[in-house]
Amino acid sequence: MTNLVTSVAESVESFPESVAVAVDDTELTYEAFWERTGRFAQALANRGIGADDRVAIYLPNLPQFVTAFHGTLRAGGIVVPMNPQYKAREISHLLSDSGAKAVVTLASNVDAVAEVLEETDVEQVVSVGGGGSGADATDFEDFLADDSLETVERADDDVAVQPYTSGTTGTPKGVLLSHDNLAWTAKANSDLIGGIEPDDKLVGTLPLFHIYGMSVVMNGALFNGAAYYPVPEWDATEVMKMIESERITVMFGVPAMFNDMINHPDAGEYDLSSLRFVNSGGSSLPMEVLERFEDLFGVTLYEGYGLTETSPTTHANSPNARRKGSIGRPFEGMDAKVVTDDFAEVPRVEEGPVNEDEADLREITGEIVVSGPNVMQGYYGLPEANEEAFTEAEGKTWFHTGDIGYWDEDDFFYVVDREKHMIVTGGYNVYPREVEELLFEHEDVADAAVVGVPDERRGETVKAFVVPTPDAEATPEDIKQYCLTNLAEYKHPREVEFVEELPRTTTGKVQKFELQNEE
Ligand code: AMP
Repeated sequence: MTNLVTSVAESVESFPESVAVAVDDTELTYEAFWERTGRFAQALANRGIGADDRVAIYLPNLPQFVTAFHGTLRAGGIVVPMNPQYKAREISHLLSDSGAKAVVTLASNVDAVAEVLEETDVEQVVSVGGGGSGADATDFEDFLADDSLETVERADDDVAVQPYTSGTTGTPKGVLLSHDNLAWTAKANSDLIGGIEPDDKLVGTLPLFHIYGMSVVMNGALFNGAAYYPVPEWDATEVMKMIESERITVMFGVPAMFNDMINHPDAGEYDLSSLRFVNSGGSSLPMEVLERFEDLFGVTLYEGYGLTETSPTTHANSPNARRKGSIGRPFEGMDAKVVTDDFAEVPRVEEGPVNEDEADLREITGEIVVSGPNVMQGYYGLPEANEEAFTEAEGKTWFHTGDIGYWDEDDFFYVVDREKHMIVTGGYNVYPREVEELLFEHEDVADAAVVGVPDERRGETVKAFVVPTPDAEATPEDIKQYCLTNLAEYKHPREVEFVEELPRTTTGKVQKFELQNEE
């Protein structure tokens, strides 16, 4: 068993002078980073926020995210990360469901917090880049206490982070991840590449509110005395410049990022040879992107796989074991298999990947289930969802990933499709039901369904099929604008199509595959 805070404390002790977090010309050494987290923890304690209290972090990738994250853990609290693109409607659910006592946000997002404050238990709003405003926010620097709190000890199986994910149903659920879940995964990811070293530099292009950026990149660096370079907003030009000038050695990203890099007009002019390990995860990596990336930059692109519920990585390719088109083998110390609806093992293929046009996928595929030290404790306050998520078998607790795939005799796994309807667009997850619920609130909408449709740049994009009311005045463009005003930008349907009716089953479920097949 391992603990998130004590593992980072070991880096602080071993490498006090090394850079922990680097932004432009400001470099926070491990010693300085630890001092600031202690002061953040003390500030929480001064306000009575401590063991098991939730602190929401509603920030882009900034050094303050890192300080607030580890400061909250040192105070004994639980971090609830929130996407900084969320608007009032979206944060309201997360804040009230989690019962967060404090929110750390950008000055520009204080008003969104103020709008929902009354529906929540939030007592303290901390703002980066200025205080004041409707929520009575305290500036981040003023919030830090003068002295450091002695770290509050937590057991390895105490909850450390509660990110939200919609999983199979659509309503965002809080995922309970313990210190051990997260520490185990950070170590396993590091071991994969023969150890992240103290002189490694990890570029933080993945958002910290999401488990992949938080656990694999930020904690991956801080666990090993390496430097973390937070990037607040993805921009291929800026990131390639940074890799070249800072001699970045490790990059974890999503396929959309690698796609942007290879399609950059000046791609060939950047020297990315400092990268010793590059990994893609979060959604399927198209073979075309993988091969063009490797040709262009002369750097191997490995693929991995995981979920919020598994902290996240469960499978990965590595310099020691790699098969293109595969998500890799399960991490050592984990079990994974492919099962039928009755939980019987689906036979392995001899060697993947198979030609999906020719193979009978029904015979070789099933649901990927996993068991191991990185699997969440459960969803927060949702016994029914937990019942569905786990199966006890062979003396182990198996988590249902909801992903359909197959496996081969060398233990490489392959993801074919998502069982759930979640749309992954440019690395962001969009849950159709959330957009549908908003559409139903529009007076001119009689019926609506949202699906993901293929998109060259984003992998998938959001499309809404809308049945307008008979006297509707709104145009498809009006509906698009309405979604844009009420949702984070990446969630709005880029296409809205008016139809007479939606294809439904007799039990009322929209047959989304039919809508998708119309493309
Ligand atoms: P999240 O909980 O946001 O991390 O999303 C998890 C989901 O992302 C998984 O259930 C998969 O559907 C998808 N995913 C992650 N990595 C991959 C991958 N390498 N290939 C295909 N899908 C992936």
